[in-house]
Amino acid sequence: MRFNTELLHSEKMGDEVTGATLTPVYQSSAFYQTSAEQHEKLFHNKANGFSYTRINNPTIAAFENRMTKLEHGISSIACSSGMAAITNALLNIVRTGEEIIASTSLYGGSIDVFHDFEAFGIQTKFVDIADDKAVEAAITDKTRVIFAETIGNPKLDVVDIAHLAELAHAHGLPLVMDNTVATAYLVRPIELGADVVVNSTSKYINGNSNAISGVITDSGKFKWDKTKYPGMAEYAKFGPFAYTAKLRNGLFRNTGACMAPQTAFYNLIGMETLGLRMERACANAKKLAEFLDSYEDIMVNYPGIPSSPWHEVADRVLERGYGAILTIRVGSKERAFQMMNRLKIPKIVSNIGDTKTLIIHPESTLNAHSTEQEKEAAGVFDDLIRISVGIEDVEDLIEDFRSAME
Ligand SMILES: *Cc1c(COP(=O)(O)O)cnc(C)c1O
Repeated sequence: MRFNTELLHSEKMGDEVTGATLTPVYQSSAFYQTSAEQHEKLFHNKANGFSYTRINNPTIAAFENRMTKLEHGISSIACSSGMAAITNALLNIVRTGEEIIASTSLYGGSIDVFHDFEAFGIQTKFVDIADDKAVEAAITDKTRVIFAETIGNPKLDVVDIAHLAELAHAHGLPLVMDNTVATAYLVRPIELGADVVVNSTSKYINGNSNAISGVITDSGKFKWDKTKYPGMAEYAKFGPFAYTAKLRNGLFRNTGACMAPQTAFYNLIGMETLGLRMERACANAKKLAEFLDSYEDIMVNYPGIPSSPWHEVADRVLERGYGAILTIRVGSKERAFQMMNRLKIPKIVSNIGDTKTLIIHPESTLNAHSTEQEKEAAGVFDDLIRISVGIEDVEDLIEDFRSAME
């Protein structure tokens, strides 16, 4: 099946018992058990079923299965937010005294949470992830994982995933990719060698910005060395599912990072149109980028135009488009604010991946906690506006930007 068909037909949809065409919202905290023996089996991973929604729930499981299919992994764990997914995905691997290598070009919240990890004795080395020498120089005997975004938010650098995965694996390290900005519509990191994929499903997967959530999808391919990753030893009996089993029986369950069933329901509906929305939003973004690029006093950054340093990598790594986010530099913070205030269609919102076009000044908001050095490395400047392009008629967006410029 091709992309859109697979989204609609790869899983049994709806409710087998009643024939309802959508998976019902199992708005229940807990589940009746048929016997004490059955309940014991459930708690010892010897039977399938549901016990308590913090661990699993049928609506959430339906969403997890759809995400697994979408990302071509073997299992997924749905979380309360993208940040919960990133936190759980990494802390399932790394212990006190160990290190993470992460791209300098990350979502501001991710940079912040890596700093939070320091209080628990976990250090993150931020490097230019496209610079092999810098990555290799940062690897020590304490390194346990490499983390990057497929398209960095908001630097919009496109990572050569296959190359980075090869480098990580040569050092016995797993590669965890945040695929929020690209989505599986543009690239499936697991197919290119990434070991674990996280998505903030608050964005394009949900699609309508009606709920916060995230998801972790495992490829099942990484071979966890028992001495290097002693926490995995107990779960080796789950074979390729060791990573997911450890997480669901450990940190995910015990920190209570679960998704709400209602959110899973919204996401199941939203993701049916992921392909259509991405197709339109990516086409709009390309047209808007080309239009804005015609102004001499605007610097456009978009992987889909030849002036982007990542255009060549984008052509190799991304399918079907170049993403729906672009950034522009307009010369000064004052001019950026004026432009944002004059635009009528794009709304000032700290979000991406909505049906509507959203704009933000990252330097004064999302990256407010970053140091000057971190901002520069993340491609954040005080004259920069990030535009998350929606599915409007692009002619209206172009007219709006033209009159704001005038
Ligand atoms: C929004 C975002 C996150 C965080 O997701 P939440 O659902 O807001 O917690 C992480 N990574 C990227 C790339 C994002 O855009």
